[in-house]
Amino acid sequence: MASNRKVMVLPGDGIGNEVMAANMKLIDWLAKHRSLGFDLSEGLVGGAAYDVHGVPLTEETLADSMASDAVLFGAVGTPKYDGVPFDVRPEAGLLRLRKEMDLFANLRPAMVFPALVEASTLKPEVVSGLDIMILRELCGGSYFAEPRGIDDLGDGTKRGYDTNAYTTPEIQRIGRVGMDLARKRNGRLTSVEKANVMHSGVLWREVMTQLHAAEGDGVELSHMYADNCAMQLVRNPKQFDVIVTDNLFGDLLSDCAAMLTGSLGMLPSASLGTPDPETGLPKAMYEPVHGSAPDIAGQGLANPLAQFLSFAMMLRYSFDQADEADLVETAVNNALQSKRTGDIMAPGCEQTGTDGMTQAVLDEMDRLAR
Ligand code: NAD
Repeated sequence: MASNRKVMVLPGDGIGNEVMAANMKLIDWLAKHRSLGFDLSEGLVGGAAYDVHGVPLTEETLADSMASDAVLFGAVGTPKYDGVPFDVRPEAGLLRLRKEMDLFANLRPAMVFPALVEASTLKPEVVSGLDIMILRELCGGSYFAEPRGIDDLGDGTKRGYDTNAYTTPEIQRIGRVGMDLARKRNGRLTSVEKANVMHSGVLWREVMTQLHAAEGDGVELSHMYADNCAMQLVRNPKQFDVIVTDNLFGDLLSDCAAMLTGSLGMLPSASLGTPDPETGLPKAMYEPVHGSAPDIAGQGLANPLAQFLSFAMMLRYSFDQADEADLVETAVNNALQSKRTGDIMAPGCEQTGTDGMTQAVLDEMDRLAR
């Protein structure tokens, strides 16, 4: 179907191919039942690209991705390439995409579907109805800022160091994304740092406060130290709406929040860049949090729901199709009432594979659309 929604599809390796093939069935459903079309291109990434081109991401695939409105990504990685040089390993393709597209805002929702309350390691009353968003700064801070390295001190010892540096514009741009997200949700933004002991945290808090005063209409801003936030996430996670934080704290806190929801096969993510001055649309990539799962790849066992939920985020954040995003998310929740893949199997449910789970979601979409 002709459309101006340009989507670059990169299935990648292992179960990336299986969950993406399943995702295509949802895309077909939307074209048929909602007249919602996408201009799809497909490319190789990761080990699949290395096998054909000797690199995990070709310049052509990178250019096509840069020219698209959104990249829909599966997963990369295969043990076959464990021995190849770091810069041509499958994961290097993903890292290069993120870097070249300047995807500085990483959105990791932690949502507990009613049907999966029992899958969490926390008490049902703590996680039931949980729906929070962790927004992690992805291009700066400890993982990128200079100076960084390992120096030989010349006395038989060494010194390893990283720098947790942030500039005003870096904090402002992630802060703006945080406020936009809060406005689209319940209006509450918690900014997380360690201003009590880190200079980067002092600046982070100062800039967030100023930004909020200047542009924060409709958003309630609060501040929290990162160590307290980690504790609050497992004590009472429902107190949060959107959490915005730096690269290092975001890495830790988003994994902690992920475990509230129970399974890797259920976790979507979005990474956004700077909005285009003409269209207002940011460059964007949508991908499940899980990897290529070599242990179950090729067996039709993969849970496709993280991929579907990533697709729902694409509908919501890149194409403003909130109704269709809601439809996919509701269908996922309803399908879970009776069918489960092995990773989230529970007593009383019927165990199925990728195809069965996909069909259960499509059946629910049929039912909800009636
Ligand atoms: P993984 O996420 O691939 O798998 C971890 C465990 O979770 C495995 O037991 C797997 O079977 C299970 N699992 C993951 N997703 C599942 C799903 N959708 N349905 C059912 N079960 C699922 O992590 P790993 O084993 O540490 O890494 C495997 C490869 O994936 C490595 O090469 C790694 O570098 C790569 N990786 C890629 C990404 C990415 O593409 N974004 C992320 C993480 C890991």
